[in-house]
Amino acid sequence: MNKLKAKMNIFSEISQIREALRIYRNVVITNIPIEMVYKLTVEPTFRTPKGFVSVTHSKSSFYYSQLMIKNVCKLNLDSWKMDTSLGIKDIPNICNIMSNKIIKIRVNKVIEFNYKLINRIGACGFLVNHWNKSVSKNCNVCGKEETQMHIIYQCKIVKNIWSRVGNYIGTKITPEKILFGTNLTCTDNNLISHIAYSIHKYWLIRNDEKANSCEEDLSIQIKNDLKFKSQLFRQLNLRRLTNKFNNALVVLFPHR
Ligand SMILES: [Zn+2]
Repeated sequence: MNKLKAKMNIFSEISQIREALRIYRNVVITNIPIEMVYKLTVEPTFRTPKGFVSVTHSKSSFYYSQLMIKNVCKLNLDSWKMDTSLGIKDIPNICNIMSNKIIKIRVNKVIEFNYKLINRIGACGFLVNHWNKSVSKNCNVCGKEETQMHIIYQCKIVKNIWSRVGNYIGTKITPEKILFGTNLTCTDNNLISHIAYSIHKYWLIRNDEKANSCEEDLSIQIKNDLKFKSQLFRQLNLRRLTNKFNNALVVLFPHR
């Protein structure tokens, strides 16, 4: 299980990225000088509006920045309609989802997390078990099938935190709100996505440490993450988000 973090879902990601960047391949081959083509054989590059970018030396943030371009980005939404365990009835149009869960989210790590979550390519036991049978496909807390939405929303270890978040923002937290940001203000949407990301991060850390998950430790992880983010938003002068995250800390963790 400790190999999970490093390997993640590399095959799914490669196919997604390859698909998304296909248009650049044609641009590169037809529109560049001969010497550049020669250079391509030495070091593969992509042509972007800002110039050539090395494939081998690019960080994942480069690939995600390309995926965020509206014409390139394809969200895989059909499978959510078939997942009866979540009871999703309405899927908003792609522009609304992109706006709620990608464009309006303030931290790049959370944007990447949302993108993977919506496309079902985020790390979880169920996915990794397909290519590495030594990784269990079941949750180590409750024994149920461990999809990413199970980790973030359905597992018994997270019920309490989502119920408290729901009380705080005045609405029941549903899979639609976590996945698509349906009927949420921008600040509530950010709060929910950051908490979902914290839950995912906690899961990764516990897997890495080969330790059992517990609700108390999860709360500490979320609390520390919210503290850090509220300080970050204060520095960025994002007053509404700072207030929302500060108040969340007081309401969600009153005795800690
Ligand atoms: Zn579980």
